[in-house]
Amino acid sequence: MEMEWTRGNIIGQGSSATVYLAISPRSSDVSAVKSAETSVSNSKQLQREQRILSSLSSPYIVSYKGCNFTKENYKNWFNLFMEYMPFGNLSEETRRNGGRLNEPTMAHYTRQIVEGLEYLHSKGVVHCDIKGSNILVGEKGVKIGDFGCAKMVDEIAPIAGTPMYMSPEAARGEEQGYPCDVWSLGCTVIEMATGFSPWSNVEDPVNVLFRVAYCDEVPMIPCFLSEQAKDFLKKCFVRASKERWSCSQLLKHPFLEKIQESDSCSPTSILEPGFWNCEEDSESFVFDDLGKISFENCPVGRIKKLALCSRDPCWKLGDENWIIARGNDADAESSISDVNDRISSDYFCEDYVNYKISDVSFVVNSFDFERDIGRLMTDSTLDFL
Ligand code: ATP
Repeated sequence: MEMEWTRGNIIGQGSSATVYLAISPRSSDVSAVKSAETSVSNSKQLQREQRILSSLSSPYIVSYKGCNFTKENYKNWFNLFMEYMPFGNLSEETRRNGGRLNEPTMAHYTRQIVEGLEYLHSKGVVHCDIKGSNILVGEKGVKIGDFGCAKMVDEIAPIAGTPMYMSPEAARGEEQGYPCDVWSLGCTVIEMATGFSPWSNVEDPVNVLFRVAYCDEVPMIPCFLSEQAKDFLKKCFVRASKERWSCSQLLKHPFLEKIQESDSCSPTSILEPGFWNCEEDSESFVFDDLGKISFENCPVGRIKKLALCSRDPCWKLGDENWIIARGNDADAESSISDVNDRISSDYFCEDYVNYKISDVSFVVNSFDFERDIGRLMTDSTLDFL
C-alpha cells in the first residue's frame, strides 16, 4: 500500500491477528488494519484472506484497501487494510442494545448479510465462519468481515469455523459448501434475537459438535419471534444440506422481502423533512419488554442511539476540548494520537485465552467465557469424536 499511515490503537483481537486503527497523517483518513507477524503461520492465513478479500467488491462486504509488509520493533508484519467499521461487530452491537435486537432491526441486518452471502456464493466463495463477531457494523448497517476461513467452493480445505455455528455436514467433516453459510446465518439470527449463540447451554464444544453432527437436533428457535422469523429460521436449519434454502430463496422469504434498503436510511439532521413525523406514525415504534414504546426503528430513535454511542461527551467551551482532524503537517502529526484515542475509546478490547483440548485447539474469548465457545482451529476434532 503506497501511502503513509500510522498504526493506532487496537480495535479488535481475533485468534489469528490483531486489528488496529490505521490513520493517514496527511488526510486523517481512518482505516482498519489487520496485522500478523510474518514469522508465525497466522500471517499465511492473513495473506490468504487478503487474496480472497481483494477479489471481492460489494456494499455488503467490508471493502479491501490494500496490503503491505512492515518492520516494526524488530519484527516483520503483514498488514491487510480495510474500510473502518465504526460500530465494531454485531455481537458487540447486540450487547450494547441490552443483549437483544428488535425484530425490524434483526430483519434489516439479516437481509444485508444474506445479500452479502448471495454475492459471495455467486463468486464461488464460501465464508465458512459466519457469526456475530465476524459481521461488522457501520452507519448504513452491516457488512461481512473476517475471511480467514473462507475458501473457494471446489477447493479441498480442512473444515474450519466455530463449533456453535457449524452445520451438521461440516461438523461431520463431510463438506463445507454454500449451505453451511446458511446454517451459520440462522445461528447468527438467534444470536441477534437472544444475545447468545445457539447451544450456549452446552459447556463442551466437542459435545456441541457431536449433537449437531449426529443427533437429529436443530438449534432452539426463540418462542417470542414472529411466525415469519420462526419460519425463516426453520429454512436455515434444514439438516439436509441439499434441502436447505439458498440465499436467493431466502431473499424472497416474507421475513426479508418487505425490508427495503430505504428503510435503513439514517437521517442526516434533525431538520430533515419528516424527521419528527415518525413519533406519530404508529408503524415507527414497537413496544419493548416492559410495555414501553420504543422508537428504535425510526429516525428519532436512531439519532438517540447515535447520541448514546458517543459516551461522556464534553461540551465545555475551550480549545483543549477540540481536536484537529485536518491541518498542516505539524498539526496533523500531533493530532493523530488524539483522533486515535477518541475513536478507540469506544471499544472494549477483549482478552483472549487459548485452550488446548487433546489435539483440538480452541480460542475462547474470555469476555464470553461462560456462554460462548471460540473457534475450531483444526480439523482434527472429528478424530477426537
Ligand atoms: P477470529 O479468527 O477469532 O474470528 P480474526 O483474527 O480473524 O478473528 P477478525 O474477526 O477479522 O479477526 O477481527 C477481530 C475483531 O476486530 C472483529 O470482531 C471486530 O470487532 C474488529 N474488526 C475487524 N475488522 C474491522 C474493521 N474493518 N473495522 C472495525 N473493526 C474491525
